[in-house]
Amino acid sequence: MKIVERIADLRAARQGAGKVGLVPTMGFLHDGHLSLIRAARSASETVVMSLFVNPTQFGPSEDFEAYPRDTPRDLDLARETGVDIVFMPSTGEVYPPGFDTWVEAGKLAERWEGEHRPGHFRGVATVVVKLLQIVQPDLAYFGEKDYQQLLIVKKMVADLNLPVEIIPCPIVREASGLALSSRNAYLADDRRPRAAVLYRAMQRAQKLASSGVDDVSLLIAEMKMVVGQEPAAHLEYLAVVDRDSLQPTGQLGVEARILGAMGFDGVRLIDNAPLRLGTDDD
Ligand code: AMP
Repeated sequence: MKIVERIADLRAARQGAGKVGLVPTMGFLHDGHLSLIRAARSASETVVMSLFVNPTQFGPSEDFEAYPRDTPRDLDLARETGVDIVFMPSTGEVYPPGFDTWVEAGKLAERWEGEHRPGHFRGVATVVVKLLQIVQPDLAYFGEKDYQQLLIVKKMVADLNLPVEIIPCPIVREASGLALSSRNAYLADDRRPRAAVLYRAMQRAQKLASSGVDDVSLLIAEMKMVVGQEPAAHLEYLAVVDRDSLQPTGQLGVEARILGAMGFDGVRLIDNAPLRLGTDDD
């Protein structure tokens, strides 16, 4: 496995690499990241993983400095999982002095994470476009864990004619249902099952919808009731949205998406799940 810190060296390593799959990460790898690497491994000749905690997607009061980091462990896991090239640039390599050009995501970025983390998606879109330009992969892998991010990246790639195929990967969860996240490291081990309350609420709505309940306000009220039973959980938002436009939907169509974010023991956690209307005989 090659470890590359400079853009020029990455470009040199990419020459003649065949079909390239890129897995962008901020490190502190867990099974969610590894599932992306495995998907890339199965479809590409060369797997490039970027490891870069991108400062521009963190707000001034967010956890950029405290964000968990463990590069030696990440490199071991990447090697074991089949990464060929790790691209781990310094902040100055990605954002040299005077850097001043940004990619602004449109409507998809307005609500939900975009509303609660102003500037977040501008930082994400900008760094993703830079990584795609630097690595020039054929395929790039993104987790559904960050559903809004996934849609924004897909739209950006289409709108800007970027020659890459975006491959979505399913959410990997702990046995409790808690979606894996590097930020789960902030939670005490014995608190994690309780932090799964957001997903339990989503499962409750899924169950009701699959038995024919299509009243979205009732589904949201049910989910809020479930979350309300966990005193440590403080909802930021919990919404049923159109799975493509991310606009709130009033009536359940064929398939919608539930999006949620909460504070739990001072840690900010997000999750999402599909919501499908069904009948009892499904
Ligand atoms: P991050 O390091 O948090 O920026 O995540 C890097 C990539 O891994 C993103 O595309 C995430 O959506 C994806 N990812 C993070 N957590 C999970 C998870 N639990 N399941 C699947 N993909 C994930």
